[in-house]
Amino acid sequence: MFFDRIDAAPADPILGLNEAFKKDTRANKTNLGVGVYQNNEGKTVILDCVKEAEKILLEREETKSYLPITGLPEFGRMARELIFGKDSEFVDGGKAISCHCPGGTGALRIGADFIHQQNVASTIWISDPTWANHYQIATSAGLKFERYPYYDRANHNLAFDRMIETLSQAKEGDVVLLHACCHNPTGIDPTHEQWEIIAKFLAEKKLLPFIDFAYQGFGHGIEEDAYGVRTIAKYNPEFLIASSFSKNFGLYSERSGVLTVVSADVETAVKVMSQVKIAVRTAISNPPAHGEKIVTTVLSDPTLRAKWEDELKSMRERIAKMRVLLSHKLKDAGAGDFDFITEQNGMFSFSGLDKDQIEALKRDFGIYAVASGRICVAGINTNNIDDIVKAITAVVK
Ligand code: PLP
Repeated sequence: MFFDRIDAAPADPILGLNEAFKKDTRANKTNLGVGVYQNNEGKTVILDCVKEAEKILLEREETKSYLPITGLPEFGRMARELIFGKDSEFVDGGKAISCHCPGGTGALRIGADFIHQQNVASTIWISDPTWANHYQIATSAGLKFERYPYYDRANHNLAFDRMIETLSQAKEGDVVLLHACCHNPTGIDPTHEQWEIIAKFLAEKKLLPFIDFAYQGFGHGIEEDAYGVRTIAKYNPEFLIASSFSKNFGLYSERSGVLTVVSADVETAVKVMSQVKIAVRTAISNPPAHGEKIVTTVLSDPTLRAKWEDELKSMRERIAKMRVLLSHKLKDAGAGDFDFITEQNGMFSFSGLDKDQIEALKRDFGIYAVASGRICVAGINTNNIDDIVKAITAVVK
């Protein structure tokens, strides 16, 4: 026997939650665990701009032959325009190279593989808490990880001083993973002033920034959400970005993401690209095409692009509205002050509820959220908000 000594892996906490949710037979159950956008009817629909791009592709696409290993150049260029802004030197200058990867996850993994395979670094610093997959991706790629504090539970805020203090212990050459915006799971992002300090600190300490940009457009806007990345770019000659089109195009299952690596000069960037290609070749050989072609079609057509920006805006604004409504309704119901929820960005919120309260929400009200207290605000709508408020009020009292 070969496999009989294998232990069962622990259940993924979030996927396990979805399984439990599916099995729950209560009619008014609510899933605030899953990390996908839902509209006011609780549906994760296909964006209109995506549907239209798919119709165009259906008519015009002539081959399903392999893409280049790093994806179509135009796709990478458009991703860089979104990240850096259309007039940035990094769009066409040659210092930044981009590579299509399967989702933001694929971009993180290929980036981590590249770092490990090329002996760029051996240690990566990751926020605590973070999207749980970060730790696993780093370890699977062969990197050691350390944690830096991020969340100030008492004040529902960024533990900025502790974060910098801990990162001061990093060795020159270590990698620091940062969330560009809409930090998952806390929803708390650095202020502009804090980004300045972080960016300068990383440059002075000679630490390599690796930025996870999974939610561009979900915080304050496409340009606004790039503030952190662009500030890092101002002070740090070399860094990596893993961006994702899963959330802002609703292309979750198409696995469309981009790894962008910025080097200090064009000559280095060419060499980096050749090694990134090897990392891709050995992991997945070629990227999946459909999502990439949808994104390229939408972004290159002014009408579709305008439609995308509108649709993204309405997702962002619906979430922001739910944050305000939730905090008001909780205050009116006597549950306490939840105003901090309106200060957080993106799909997720650290609600401040503890493990027992989250368990009571599930047991007594059929409301599912992650044990850490993370709720997916995008799962709240005008039909379920009153039940959610009633349940939270009951568990906090
Ligand atoms: N990074 C963060 C912080 C995320 O929250 C997610 C998805 O939830 C990802 C990366 C991965 O996104 P993708 O589905 O594009 O792989």
